[in-house]
Amino acid sequence: MSQLPETDDVRILTQQMRAYLNWYKANGTEPFFHRKSGRVVLSLLHVEHRGKAEFVRGINSEVSLPTGSICAERAAIVNARTTFPNINRKQMKGIAVLEVPLLNTWTSEVVHDLLNPLPPCGACNEWLLKIQEQSPSFYVVTYQDLSLEVAQERFLFWSLQESARADPDLGAWNCHCCHHQNAPLSTVCGSCGVDRFSSSYLRMPTQKKYFRVLHALEHCPMSFKELSGKLAEKVPDLKEVLQRLQRNRGKHKDVHPILSRDADGLYHLTETGRQILMRKQDALPSGRRRNARHKPMRRSDKGACNGSEQMRAEQICPAPNSCAMASQEVKGP
Ligand SMILES: [Zn+2]
Ligand SMILES: [Zn+2]
Repeated sequence: MSQLPETDDVRILTQQMRAYLNWYKANGTEPFFHRKSGRVVLSLLHVEHRGKAEFVRGINSEVSLPTGSICAERAAIVNARTTFPNINRKQMKGIAVLEVPLLNTWTSEVVHDLLNPLPPCGACNEWLLKIQEQSPSFYVVTYQDLSLEVAQERFLFWSLQESARADPDLGAWNCHCCHHQNAPLSTVCGSCGVDRFSSSYLRMPTQKKYFRVLHALEHCPMSFKELSGKLAEKVPDLKEVLQRLQRNRGKHKDVHPILSRDADGLYHLTETGRQILMRKQDALPSGRRRNARHKPMRRSDKGACNGSEQMRAEQICPAPNSCAMASQEVKGP
């Protein structure tokens, strides 16, 4: 830590985290609020307000499981919005996360059981990715232990483990507009601001028929027969449309097809396809918006394709617990 320049954001955030940790050591917390997982997680959100760096605290709360637990990261974001109600995502610069002992017991056994370095859980990752869309250099800092001497900057929520599991469509990408090398999981170019999943960037044809096919596959993969039964009138050249959507973008290795066809002959939206559809729906008037964020059902679940809302909630938040609990199951996007 001492090797970092004094003006380094990670170093300043860590100094502030140390102050928060010392405050916690002196004051402790009410165990009632941690009665579900027995874990306490502190977080500190770095925001820029009126040209000044501010550090906003967060702590997890587990009051009632049916209503969901609130992780430290999301608590800090909500705290920042409460303290500075006009704050925007651009003003959020980074966040530090640290697990500390419940009941203020600092024996080596207790400290050894802490899960530091603690990555954000799936639900917090969703929030942080939304912030990162407007604040491309947003950073996440975790610590090896309570000395805070070794910080791990999780470059845009990415670890080697995660990169092995992640969808290749969301991997590192080289912007075609400005040649900036962008980090995995980022969707907006850190230099020129282009959206890698916009139809124009992907040079996706803009005719309605292409979007009709994406919509049809939103919830379930389908065979050619099923698709043509559904779309025959509106998409007479269905075969060509499907071929076009499956084609890769030639020399651009980091642009992926929009549809894929599996060994059973079923057509699926790829992650790129889902991202395009999501943007299309975000652009619609709110009454017509539908939720496109979930992954399609597996074929064996075909009959249950209406339960998409619930499924989405399960995927984003694998366990309705604090980060400490949820992070035990390593998740990929
Ligand atoms: Zn660019
Ligand atoms: Zn979380």
